[in-house]
Amino acid sequence: MADDKQQHDRRVFSCTTCDFTVDYHYKGRKPPFANCILLHEECYVLKDPFSTSGGFVTVGGLCSMCNRDVCLSNGCSLFYTQRFCTNCSVKHIQEFPHELQQEIMHKLKS
Ligand SMILES: [Zn+2]
Ligand SMILES: [Zn+2]
Repeated sequence: MADDKQQHDRRVFSCTTCDFTVDYHYKGRKPPFANCILLHEECYVLKDPFSTSGGFVTVGGLCSMCNRDVCLSNGCSLFYTQRFCTNCSVKHIQEFPHELQQEIMHKLKS
């Protein structure tokens, strides 16, 4: 990791499952630039560049089991009371409700 130092004051989110990488502005549940928003989970948040009223975009979160960074795309994680990466959701598939199990199986096939 030769460019470790350069990244020190830049906050970069990168998904551990796909190649998605993006600079983010805030990590947590209450983005300071958004008005009175409390997110369901700790997220990586970007200010929405097109918004003048505190808009934001959530780009990623943390798997509640393995603590890895995962993006919010369907292929990488799912949210069921907490966020789970695809790996963990497969490992613990028996603990999810039936509809979600089907969704997870469906993901695996695609
Ligand atoms: Zn991803
Ligand atoms: Zn996980």
